[in-house]
Amino acid sequence: RTGDKRADRIPRWVRVNERLVRPDELLEALQAQGWTRQEEGQHGLAPKRKSFMVSPHLGGCMLAFHPSQTSNLVEHHLYRDGKIVLQDLASCFPAEILLCEEAKTVADLHVVDATAAPGNKTSHLSALLAKRKGLSRITAFEKSAKRFATLCAQLDRAGALSGSSRCQHTARGAVTAVRSDFMEVNREELADVTHMLLDPSCSGSGIVGRLDHLSSKTALLDERETEEEEQSERLAHLATFQLAMIEFAMGFPSLRRFCYSTCSTHVQENEEVVLKALKTTVAQSRGWKLAGKSSVLPSWPTRGLGSECGSEQGLADAMIRCDPGGSMSDEATTNGHAQLEATNGFFVTCFVRESENKSREK
Ligand code: SAM
Repeated sequence: RTGDKRADRIPRWVRVNERLVRPDELLEALQAQGWTRQEEGQHGLAPKRKSFMVSPHLGGCMLAFHPSQTSNLVEHHLYRDGKIVLQDLASCFPAEILLCEEAKTVADLHVVDATAAPGNKTSHLSALLAKRKGLSRITAFEKSAKRFATLCAQLDRAGALSGSSRCQHTARGAVTAVRSDFMEVNREELADVTHMLLDPSCSGSGIVGRLDHLSSKTALLDERETEEEEQSERLAHLATFQLAMIEFAMGFPSLRRFCYSTCSTHVQENEEVVLKALKTTVAQSRGWKLAGKSSVLPSWPTRGLGSECGSEQGLADAMIRCDPGGSMSDEATTNGHAQLEATNGFFVTCFVRESENKSREK
């Protein structure tokens, strides 16, 4: 434990896995087992109370429990059966933003999750595609062997893994998991890919109560100056990798829309990477820009840092930035109440390609 008080304010967020169960059925099952639904109000979720709230965001599939209920939830059969997924609210934004404009179309989509393990966002994508018309599918890449095994297990539990017996109820949004370095895939062989999630490795500095964004070596250093130097070197290294991933994604022949996200609070991995990406040759030649706020969860209040985006307010508004723990009152902190809009630190934005015609004119 880190003693970070913010950890007590962030609800244990639970996503209803709509591949396997409807939100109303799930709420009924919970209520039948003695959980009470608490309406949004002045007071957050109190510890030791068997209650939950439903987020007004993301169509009723995000439930908030007090963080002290985490072990109860992990042991719950709804979790073991894959009907609920323990996933932070902010971590559900990328899939929602990626597919929001496609929800009502019947077009067949091929969605890539470039850096998929442990698979929470992949299984969310899969649930959203299962609800759509059209024969959409997902290819999920993961480089690490160990994490690839976790990815497959999670997707199987969520009923999303293509070919698995648990996935037989619908082929829509089924996932083919591929153990591979995303940067080494042949983009011509993936010429039908239309949408993508890019959630690359990052410092993890937005994850409350987790210290592994500081390497053990760094954490033990006495000299603050050296620590800061190491931190900035590490961030520069990560930012270079993140930018390279975005540039590679921008070269997919038919890609129309992709989300870039991190669970970092550092400007270097977020606004700075995005602004650099917009200035790259591939972005300019292929007509990549940021999707406007209206299709990037406009109801979410906290946006990119305007101070980093220069004079163009639209750019900052096109990004979402979540502060770890959200904005909490002193009362909530003292009482250990979890609040409905508190999440871990997170950043997400969405790139879209201007029409073929427009990009040809350039
Ligand atoms: N999107 C995941 C989720 O929500 O569950 C979390 C992804 S995690 C931040 C980043 C993942 O990318 C790690 O599992 C890491 O092993 C993987 N990764 C890093 N570089 C990669 C690459 N070049 N190709 C494929 N996967 C990569």
